[in-house]
Amino acid sequence: MLGCIFCKIAAGERPATIYYRDDRCIAFQDNRAQAPVHALVIPRKHISSLNEAGPEDAELLGHLLSVAARTAQERGVHRSGFRVVINTNPEAGQTVYHLHLHVLGGRTMDWPPG
Ligand code: AMP
Ligand code: ZN
Repeated sequence: MLGCIFCKIAAGERPATIYYRDDRCIAFQDNRAQAPVHALVIPRKHISSLNEAGPEDAELLGHLLSVAARTAQERGVHRSGFRVVINTNPEAGQTVYHLHLHVLGGRTMDWPPG
């Protein structure tokens, strides 16, 4: 998708600290980290938000969750705890319209989220 920053990161056209990559997705460091561990897991396919993910994406969504768990493990927060978040649309705080899973860990988090 032309002009999409996350498509550019996935294509290697913009710099990012990459934690994991395969043919369907990549995981990289959030550049404005909100926790000691803050990774983003994104599909290579441009899907604007969870609202635009269809039944044909079900397997891909499962894969993204699996990579989120793997990333938490590799970053060393799987035992202490981590949170996986998908912000969808403005009231949830979505700012980048390419589907992404936040993987947050390394500190105690509040519930409910702000
Ligand atoms: P959201 O607000 O849920 O849409 O999350 C977007 C996230 O992308 C924010 O946490 C940003 O800090 C992060 N972000 C935006 N641009 C970049 C970038 N070029 N590299 C890494 N993370 C980014
Ligand atoms: Zn995109």
